Amino acid sequence: MPATAADALEHGAPHGAAGPAANLLMIGQARGQPAHVSRLGIKKTFCVPPLRGHPLRDRCPRGAANGRADRADDGGPSMAERETWTTDEFGSSHEGSIGVLLPDGTVPEPAFFPLSSGAGGQTTSEWSVYDGRFSLTPKAHALRAVCSCGWTGTEYPLDWAKIGEQNLRVAARDLAEECEAEWWDGHTTTVEKSAIAVPEDITDLLRLVSEKIEKLAQQSPLAAVRAARLLEVTAVRSSYWPAHDVRAKTSPEEAGAALGLNEDDTLHLLARFGNWSPYR
Ligand SMILES: [Zn+2]
Repeated sequence: MPATAADALEHGAPHGAAGPAANLLMIGQARGQPAHVSRLGIKKTFCVPPLRGHPLRDRCPRGAANGRADRADDGGPSMAERETWTTDEFGSSHEGSIGVLLPDGTVPEPAFFPLSSGAGGQTTSEWSVYDGRFSLTPKAHALRAVCSCGWTGTEYPLDWAKIGEQNLRVAARDLAEECEAEWWDGHTTTVEKSAIAVPEDITDLLRLVSEKIEKLAQQSPLAAVRAARLLEVTAVRSSYWPAHDVRAKTSPEEAGAALGLNEDDTLHLLARFGNWSPYR
């Protein structure tokens, strides 16, 4: 998660509002909300381990080398393995990232970077570490967007003659952005379209409620919070019986396809709405 709102805007800002995110829950964008409270989706930043004096340190995305990175030197919690993108609605069912392909078409193993202290290290599959330097990683042949659902995007071969000795993250930034755009604008749009349709009068009402709460927040943030709380209560009440009906009449596969979620997330969502344990 970006450490500051500025980081969020630079590294974690939701993808353009014109993408899949032409979704009904996009209120808040205009005010430049940090990504971690956005209703659209988030981009988790990633940083390779902060090895003191190690060239890898230079490969951290700008702004991500502070805070999170320094904790690892102190034996703090390990960081995410790579940068990922998720939408608020589909969450971990569709977690996108940039994948690497080797010349033989296979996906490389995660790379392990030992700490200079010799005590442990960091495992990562962030695309930009596959530059073949320092014998720690193989050299990437191509980049492509990948998703936790199994979807993969267009392969973009890397031109190493052009890249030369440049930092891969910088040299291949355009390709990485192509991959990211393909995931946001292509894949998640397809997922949204394949999910079961919600009647327009309902989506219009939800949009209107969001706009009203946003407006109310300008006069009274407290009243807006209470309104949002009532909305939450309404969601819990109104989803209880539908969740039970879906459980009784629909297979998890069918429900997952209709909701754009994987089976596990579908079962957890229904259990939460229907107020039963997902483990029974
Ligand atoms: Zn997906």
